[in-house]
Amino acid sequence: MDVLDRTDLRFPRSLPQFQQLFPDDAICAAYLERSCWGDGFLCPHCGVVGEPYRIARRPRVLTCRACHRQTGLTVGTVMERSRTPLSTWFWAAYLVASQTKGISVVQFQRQLGLTRYETAFGILHKLRAVMVRPDQDGIGVRAGEYVEVDETYVGGRTRGEGRGVHHKTLVIAAVEVRQRKPGTAQDKRNIGRYAGRVRLAVAADRSADSLCGFVESAVIPGARVVTDDWSGYGSLRARGFDHHAIAERGDSEVAEEYLPIVHLVFSNLKTWLGGTHHGVSAKHLQTYLNEFTFRFNRRFYPFNAFRSLLGIAAAAEAPTYAGLYSGEWKHPTSSGYLR
Ligand SMILES: [Zn+2]
Repeated sequence: MDVLDRTDLRFPRSLPQFQQLFPDDAICAAYLERSCWGDGFLCPHCGVVGEPYRIARRPRVLTCRACHRQTGLTVGTVMERSRTPLSTWFWAAYLVASQTKGISVVQFQRQLGLTRYETAFGILHKLRAVMVRPDQDGIGVRAGEYVEVDETYVGGRTRGEGRGVHHKTLVIAAVEVRQRKPGTAQDKRNIGRYAGRVRLAVAADRSADSLCGFVESAVIPGARVVTDDWSGYGSLRARGFDHHAIAERGDSEVAEEYLPIVHLVFSNLKTWLGGTHHGVSAKHLQTYLNEFTFRFNRRFYPFNAFRSLLGIAAAAEAPTYAGLYSGEWKHPTSSGYLR
């Protein structure tokens, strides 16, 4: 079903509303249990299906009635081995999912009423680490959709520096283009086309190795890919893509007309970066690109963003507080594309 037609994914509109929905650890634990076993608890040790024992003081643990072994509800999630209450984790993930501009550790600590700075730091950075982990699967999967690919320069200000010195970084994007149902109100904008999922990466240059290498890492083989007529994209057909080049001849208005969706993504990205990341190195820009991608790809499903952040129904490798604080934890780059 089309993402825009979903009405069942209700999401709370405010933190108080969210806190009402998830008031305590028992309710959060019940939510985790439903996420894992919608049809009832299945013991991973002995395979028996049946109501487990629950201990009120330890809501994170279920005990099998048949084999008496325990199963942790937070295993494989970002909450594993944390002493912070589940409700605090839930509220924290809600805050991070809904605050698009980012939030400082101190603001975060105040909002959640946490007494220790280290606790706030640990939670916020674990959630951010999930957000900047790149989405790995190739885009362009659906029948009838195609992928627009283009590159742009991001950031860069030369104030007070020599002529020709700049900090602009080349960013390349691939975005799925989908078609709205005819006759709807949104149908009129962009001839009814809208963006599906996006992939973004810092590119070393505009060579065929960089540009086509990115497309190979981001888009499934055989997908229909639309680019401008820059020679760097020339080998896409030989690399197994259904490639269509728009004759741009240096006219940016032509590109806007034929590659409108990827230009919309660039415009959103630049607004979001908001001029605050001038002069950041390509390495740091990639983490911002990954965060933008995380938010953009889940923009129709804020509840999915929340669930992804907590690692519910998907294993998440959580960094430790010590690792984060010492800088030992490394944010991954996009799809192994960066060298
Ligand atoms: Zn069992």
